[in-house]
Amino acid sequence: MHAEYVMRCERCGYEAADRVLHNSAFKRYEIMTCTDCEEVVQVLITELPYKVIKTLPNGIQHVVVQADQLIDHDPECPHCHGPRVEPWEDPKCCPKCRQRMVKRELDSQWN
Ligand SMILES: [Zn+2]
Ligand SMILES: [Zn+2]
Repeated sequence: MHAEYVMRCERCGYEAADRVLHNSAFKRYEIMTCTDCEEVVQVLITELPYKVIKTLPNGIQHVVVQADQLIDHDPECPHCHGPRVEPWEDPKCCPKCRQRMVKRELDSQWN
């Protein structure tokens, strides 16, 4: 089984997932850091416009794709909508105090 983990800053305790949680066939996000919010954020990079034509009771959506090309977005922080986002590159550092972050496993394998 794949271990779940987050990146943790040992100095201030800040934690963030270092993988994208909302990628789909229509929207592509990247993990970045916002210099203004001092947060790790998921930034929308490209999008394929689509329209939901029917939603089934189980939540599955039937969609039509409205364009044959991805739309590129200017990277923007989802919190402050500012453009001061930067790729979160290795070594992953804390956006608050610039301390190098370490992996912390989330599953209960130690029990
Ligand atoms: Zn920190
Ligand atoms: Zn921000």
